[in-house]
Amino acid sequence: MKTLKNKVAIVTGASRGIGLAIAENLAQYGVKLALISTNLDTITKVAKDISEKYGVETLALQIDVKSADEINAGVKKVLDSFSQIDIMVNNAGITRDNLIIRMKEDDWSQVIDTNLKGAFSFCKAVTRPMMKKRTGVIINISSVVGIMGNAGQSNYAAAKAGMIGLTKSLAKELGARNIRVNAIAPGFIVSKMTEEIPEKSKDEMLSRIPLGNFGEAKNIADCVSFLSSSMGNYITGSVIQVDGGLNM
Ligand code: NAP
Repeated sequence: MKTLKNKVAIVTGASRGIGLAIAENLAQYGVKLALISTNLDTITKVAKDISEKYGVETLALQIDVKSADEINAGVKKVLDSFSQIDIMVNNAGITRDNLIIRMKEDDWSQVIDTNLKGAFSFCKAVTRPMMKKRTGVIINISSVVGIMGNAGQSNYAAAKAGMIGLTKSLAKELGARNIRVNAIAPGFIVSKMTEEIPEKSKDEMLSRIPLGNFGEAKNIADCVSFLSSSMGNYITGSVIQVDGGLNM
């Protein structure tokens, strides 16, 4: 992954879980990082820890991805600090699960605005600097649920399916400028988001995973680093499932 050294990446939702693992994985290859969360104290500590551990420059930014204004101001700060943006990882996401008959309009809007509109706004904000440089990598963290659907997650599945449409459209739009756009569709990855799932549902899920175990955040992070590096140079518009075989 030599080609990653001194590249600049923005990672949203980097305060914990999959986003934190993505940030650490990129840092280990020498990538400079702009790390995003809604909590300034947490993300400042994460950025400091990563900087000390891996010796890379980091910038902590408090941004609510639902706000395009905050995103535009944040991207400007990244450019002021690092002069370029090579890699954009749209990872921030939430769930507000419920069956459709009980789902409130706000549960729908919060999930769509965070998971899908947030990714759209960041893609839009980084496209101009990437187009200018005629190079860039965008990676959207979708979900197998966006491909398979899932009862009780119509808002989340719609947002994650939307990210796949966004990814493929931007891959077609931006390919000529050498900007690669891909999605990763994780299966069941152990994290805070999945802690809340009842044991019975977890056992049922496990029985449907051919590899027989849940994934780890590192499995997603490894895929992000691979796609970001020159090893992924001929990959765009793809949805890479990292799910132990759950969906096939
Ligand atoms: P997590 O532990 O709940 O972390 C979510 C991250 O998103 C946190 O860093 C959180 O930061 C950030 N975030 C939430 N709302 C935000 C907002 N409005 N603005 C900015 N940041 C926000 O979740 P995870 O399991 O690591 O999931 C990461 C991504 O992978 C999500 O997109 C999720 O849908 C996807 N995914 C996860 C799984 C899984 O099994 N875990 C499977 C498929 C897909 P703060 O709270 O600090 O703001």
